[in-house]
Parts: sequence; structure tokens; C-alpha cells
Amino acid sequence: MNGLMMQQPLLISSLLVHAERHHGDQEVVSRRVEGDVHRTTYRELAARSRQMANGLLALGVSPGDRVATLAWNGYRHMELYYAVSGSGSVLHTLNPRLHADQVVWIADHAEDQILFFDLTFLPLIEAIAGRVKTIKAFVAMTDRANMPAASKVPNLLCYEELIAAASPDFTWPVFDEQTASSLCYTSGTTGHPKGALYSHRSTMLHTYAVALPDSLNCSSRDVILPVVPMFHVNAWGLPYAACMVGAKLVLPGPFLDGKSLHELFEAEGVTLSAGVPTVWQGLLAHVEANNLKFSTMRRTIIGGAACPPAMMRAFQERYDVQVLHAWGMTEMSPLGTACTLKAKHQGLGAEERMAVQAKQGRAVFGVDMKIVGDDGRELPHDGKASGELLVRGPWIISSYFKGEGGDPLVYSNGNGWFPTGDVSTIDADGYMQITDRSKDVIKSGGEWIGSIDLENIAMAHPSVAMAACIGAKHPKWDERPLLVVMKKPGGEVTRNELLAFYEGKIAKWWTPDDVVFVDAIPLGATGKMQKNKLREQLAGYKLPSA
Ligand code: ADP
Repeated sequence: MNGLMMQQPLLISSLLVHAERHHGDQEVVSRRVEGDVHRTTYRELAARSRQMANGLLALGVSPGDRVATLAWNGYRHMELYYAVSGSGSVLHTLNPRLHADQVVWIADHAEDQILFFDLTFLPLIEAIAGRVKTIKAFVAMTDRANMPAASKVPNLLCYEELIAAASPDFTWPVFDEQTASSLCYTSGTTGHPKGALYSHRSTMLHTYAVALPDSLNCSSRDVILPVVPMFHVNAWGLPYAACMVGAKLVLPGPFLDGKSLHELFEAEGVTLSAGVPTVWQGLLAHVEANNLKFSTMRRTIIGGAACPPAMMRAFQERYDVQVLHAWGMTEMSPLGTACTLKAKHQGLGAEERMAVQAKQGRAVFGVDMKIVGDDGRELPHDGKASGELLVRGPWIISSYFKGEGGDPLVYSNGNGWFPTGDVSTIDADGYMQITDRSKDVIKSGGEWIGSIDLENIAMAHPSVAMAACIGAKHPKWDERPLLVVMKKPGGEVTRNELLAFYEGKIAKWWTPDDVVFVDAIPLGATGKMQKNKLREQLAGYKLPSA
């Protein structure tokens, strides 16, 4: 017997309709590429999104077509999030930090039809315009007054003119919730980039999960500033969650340095933010150097790479900002786990609480996870056994766009599991802790050494700005840990002092064999340390013990 409930497909446009109807006067504040601060409301943003949906029709965009963006976090990007997906086309957020050749490869693979871009990226657009195969028009996300005077880009259109020429009279179409809504490519550290193609249904279910209290905990009383870019896994879903709950949204544009962010946090009363650890490093350094505080910010979500406990301590103990450690990946929309404490952990002493908080967290409802050994057998959830982490759920990919890279799923008992490429433990309370990415694990004498632990210890040293640990070849042990360190400006620390810093903190045989100081650690397009680049840079390096 079927239930007698209404059949309504879960569609992204409904989020904006809700925000307009129930939170119409709630603000969306953006730092623009032009340098000024722009203020709008959900009411106005919804009207302009409908105008842009008509504008897309005028450009000949049909349902299913890919419409690309190369843009910062801002209200026009947000309008496109809803205009493109809401009208049944697919929003393809390109990562502007990639090399022009990669952008061309990805745009061709996605068969993008139109490309919207922020003025910052005009040089990149000029570099790719004559090379991309399917893009029919380029739209500069600005007004006529700021349009580039003489540009080599063919078919260059102006965003505000498209909006002005279009009516806000547009009814969001109703279609199957399995329809593709947006497309995001992984940064492709191995092989070609691969596309994760999200659907309306997957995005909506993910949005509910993101907003939950034990998850990213978003409410109408929050002022949310996603530092994580809208070109990286839909800014972890926050542009959708903000509409779902009616939160004020603050979008920082290209100004991601510590000073600009801190000013915006204070000026707009931001309560909740989100980003990768490297961004927070810049912010903390600025706040420390200028003796500032956070008057309204009380929570920040840190994920995308392991958050060093030293960073958590600084936020929580010095600035009264609670850190929520979260884990996920492009293939998971991205949220997989969030590290909120269970009631029984709240009474723990500071050190024990920190040990729980340093873990990546518990699965949000909708994500099922398990760890398996080399033989594929499931390992116990005892917080000790570590193995490859497999996941499944309604917002996890079933395959990559156009089958790129083959079928990723691992089958067991007829069920598909997605292999994350992460190595982790899961404890009896369900807290998952990543020890490494499988390709970064250091294999020493047949045992695994987790590089994240070693990096976290080094990052707690007051003179260390950033630390990466990689495996260096060793004739006897196969590999031994090598610590690569970028010092803080003015920071003084020697190799021996750093190695001594490990004493008593880990098993002795885990201590790195050597330390190499570098001026900079290479960061990838999403702000993460690129250990493959480091390994290449240090290919000729020989350990003193080797
Ligand atoms: P990529 O970096 O491969 O382009 P993603 O941005 O999707 O793609 O990154 C996903 C990966 O980032 C995860 O598989 C994991 O290795 C790492 N990651 C994400 N969050 C965390 C975290 N909180 N702690 C440690 N690693 C993390």
C-alpha cells in the first residue's frame, strides 16, 4: 500500500522560492571584484535569478546544457547557481586556479555552452577563448561601465545588460528530481580531472544534512560567510543551506587575505564561517599580529585537509571561536562527517576533548561508511584498526561524468561502495579519523606511518608556518618520514630542535629521519598542500641515514 502524500520532486529552485517568500528581506552582502561592498536581499536576488533564467533562454541555453562559471563568491554567482540549475541546465563551476590548459580540457570535456566570468579572470578567458571547442558566448559578470574596453574575446556579453533585457516573469519549471543540476571536477592530482555530476535530489538531501545541528548547524539567526569558494564543491553546500534556513549570507569575493576577511567578519556580524586550514592560517596570523578579536564569530568549519590541533586551540582558547572539523570530498557533494561532540564527551577535560575534536567526525545521516583491509575485509570500529575508507549514500557519485577513469565503485554483496582513497580508523562512538590519503601513506619496514599526525605535531611548534611529511626512499626500511617545513616569518628553529619536539608525542620509530626547510610549500588549486609536487621537488634528496 502506498502512502497518501503529495508527490513533489526535490528541486533546487524551491530553496530560492522559500528564501524569497519567508526571508525576503534577509541580506546577501558581497565584496565585489570592483572593490566595493554590494548589498541585496533574497527578494531581489530571486527576481534577478528569474531574469537571468530568461536571459539564458534568450542565449539559446536548453535543459541539460552545461553553463560554466569562473567566478568568486558573490551575489551574481549565487544568481547563476539558481538561474542555471533552476531552469534545468547544469551549472559547471570551473576552478580559476587551474592552469589554462586544464581549464580548456575540462570545458571541452564538459561541453560547456556559455561561460560566465568575473573580471579578474579576463586574462585567463583571453588565453582560452580561441581554444575551447563548444563555448558560444562569454559573459563578463559586471555592468556596462566596467566592461573591458578592447578585448580579444569573441562574443563577449555583459551580465547586467542580459539581466536588464530580461523579464523577472519566469516560472521555475518542474521536472524529475534526478535531473543533473551541477558539475564539479576534482583537481585531478592523478590522471585527468574527473567530473562529479550532482542532481537536484542529491543536492537537496545534502542541503538538509548540511543544515542539521550536529552537522554544520545553520539557522536563520546565523550570518554565514563561506570562505570556501563557490567553485569548489558548491562552497560545501552553504549557498543552498543559507536559502533553506534564511540565514544572512556574506560573500568575500576575491579578498581572502586575513585583513579583508577579518574586516568583513566584524562589519557584517558574521557568526559562522567555513574554509580550508591554509586560509585560516592567514587570518589567525593577522588577528594575532594586530591584537584583534572576533566579536561575533562563534563557529568555524574547517575541512578539505586535516585541521592541525594547534589551529583549533588558537581559535577556541584564544578567540572563543568553536572549530567544527569536517571531512568530505568532491565526489560526496562534499559532506561526509562532522565532528560535533556527543553528550558524553562534553564533560571531558580539555586535552581529551581536543583528541576527539581532532578526528574528522561522525557520519552525517545519509552517509554510510566502513573501513576495509588490503584483502577487502571489513575492519572493526575500535579506533585502532586502520584501512581504506569506503562510503555510500544518496549524495555520493555512482560514476564519474562520461565514465572518465572507469567505474569507481567497489562491489560487495551486490552493493556499491565508493573508495575514498583515504586511510582511516573509526572508533566505537563512530568518530572517523583520517590517518592519510592512501597515496601519501609512508611505508616503513612493512608498517604504515600516518603523515597527518607528524604534520600536526610540527605545526604546533611556534616557529612553524606549514609542515608536510613525505616518504623518502630508504635502503633498509623502504621509506622513512621526511619533514618539510616552511618557517613563520622571523621564526627560528633548527632541524635538531624540531626532531626533539617529537619526543614523547609519538612512537619513537615514527619520528622523521630528517627535516628540510623550504621557502614555500606548493599549494594546489583548492588550497591544499601538494605532496606529489614536493616529492618531485625532493626527488634527488638523500636521507642522512640512507
Ligand atoms: P581533491 O583534493 O582530490 O581535488 P577534494 O577537494 O574533493 O578533492 O578533496 C577530498 C580529499 O580531501 C579527501 O579525500 C581527503 O583526503 C581530504 N580531506 C578533506 N577533508 C579533510 C579533513 N578534515 N581531514 C583530512 N583530510 C581531508
